[in-house]
Order: sequence, then C-alpha cells, then structure tokens
Amino acid sequence: MNERTYLGIPRDEIAWNPAIDEEKCIGCGQCLEVCPNNVFAMDEASGKMKVVNPQNCVVLCDKCKAFCDQEAISFPDKEELKRWLAARLRASAAARTKGADS
Ligand code: SF4
Ligand code: SF4
Repeated sequence: MNERTYLGIPRDEIAWNPAIDEEKCIGCGQCLEVCPNNVFAMDEASGKMKVVNPQNCVVLCDKCKAFCDQEAISFPDKEELKRWLAARLRASAAARTKGADS
C-alpha cells in the first residue's frame, strides 16, 4: 500500500490545497518557483497558473500565498482545518481504544 498520510490520516481526506483565481493570476510564475512540490504548472494556452497536484501540497503550508502579489492564491480556513484534524485524530484514537478493548 502506498497511501499518503498526514498524522496517520489519508491525505485525500484532508481538504488543504491552494486555489488560483484565474481572473487575478498574471502567470508571473512566482508560486511555481517558491513551491518545491510540483503542485503548480503553467498552462501555456491561457498563460495562467494551474493547480495540477493538489495533494502534493504540504498540509497547513501556505507559503506560496505570500509570494503572489496579485493575491490570486487562496486556501481553506487554517483554524477550521486544525479543528477538523484534532477531531479526526480523537476519533481515530477512540476507535483504536475500542478495538483494543474488544
Ligand atoms: S504567483 Fe500568483 S499571479 Fe503569479 S503565477 Fe502564481 S498565482 Fe499567478
Ligand atoms: S502551500 Fe506550500 S506546499 Fe502548498 S503549494 Fe504552496 S508552497 Fe507548495
């Protein structure tokens, strides 16, 4: 099995990746330069940046957002995700405890 996880949670369950507002993006490439994880790729046809590998984004990282002068990059609410992760971890721990008891 080669499932990517974060704190033991399958990565594909975690809603964290950048979104690009195409209206604002000018295709400057700053986000591509700052992210080492192949999350972005330039769409040559439109001259706009695309998110091509959203699951490659590091959970809770939002570094590229600060490098976009056009404010074209957005992320979900960080505090809300932290609450979701905490609840998810509590649920996993409770399930493990229940499994150990039975
Ligand atoms: S940094 Fe912003 S404006 Fe530049 S390519 Fe990335 S999303 Fe587009
Ligand atoms: S938040 Fe971090 S890991 Fe995610 S796309 Fe931006 S720079 Fe890359």
